[in-house]
Amino acid sequence: MSVVAFPGAAGFVPAGAGLAALRTAALTCAGCELAGPATQTVFSAGPAGARLAVVGEQPGDVEDRRGMPFVGPAGQLLDRALGEVGIDRSTVYVTNTVKHFRFSAGGEGGGGTRRIHQTPDTVHIDACKPWLLAELAVVDPDVVVLLGATAGKALLGPTFRVTRDRGRLIPRVARRDEPAALQAGWLLATLHPSAILRADDQDAAYTGFVADLRLAALVLTTGRPHPPQARVDHGLVGVFDQGRTPTTP
Ligand code: SF4
Repeated sequence: MSVVAFPGAAGFVPAGAGLAALRTAALTCAGCELAGPATQTVFSAGPAGARLAVVGEQPGDVEDRRGMPFVGPAGQLLDRALGEVGIDRSTVYVTNTVKHFRFSAGGEGGGGTRRIHQTPDTVHIDACKPWLLAELAVVDPDVVVLLGATAGKALLGPTFRVTRDRGRLIPRVARRDEPAALQAGWLLATLHPSAILRADDQDAAYTGFVADLRLAALVLTTGRPHPPQARVDHGLVGVFDQGRTPTTP
């Protein structure tokens, strides 16, 4: 099977640009095939000085039509979970790994009007990654929460697995291929809210999701230089420090 290579977004990302300029430039990105069928580029929302960034997969049907990330059912669930750990969504920088909606046409023979979500392939993740790296370089958050496999693979590599790697703080080291020198922060992977909405046991999945987000909240409240080496134990659903002593965020 041949793999289609795309030029990628690098040629569209203005060097040294701030968030507003990145957002404007992304409107005309043609770095991969997804720009054509989608309604519009869905870049990000939230303040440039946010201490917490949340990275999803790609805009969904609602987001594609409205041009804003996480404004559909998954976004509402994210808002609720953030609220439970004391984080106001308006203080969070919210973005996606891939900035255009990937979908197939529904109905018999693909001729229907319903648009069915398609997971981005590695080629789309790679093509769009320059936008993600550029915006994270500008925002430079203390914690980047990765929602699901696509975001995890983009920033932690192709071997990332949500079930194995979620719920623990992973040092985010500045990379040579990033457009600006970054302070080291933390990555924290967890489920994508859409996966919770599809889960057989939504209550259990949501409880685990909130526990992961509580760890991010803990870093924000305890300070950036020395966050605890903590992880969520999904067998016990609690927050533990390095010595496995329960702590209260
Ligand atoms: S998905 Fe990303 S790389 Fe592809 S056209 Fe959209 S913004 Fe550009």
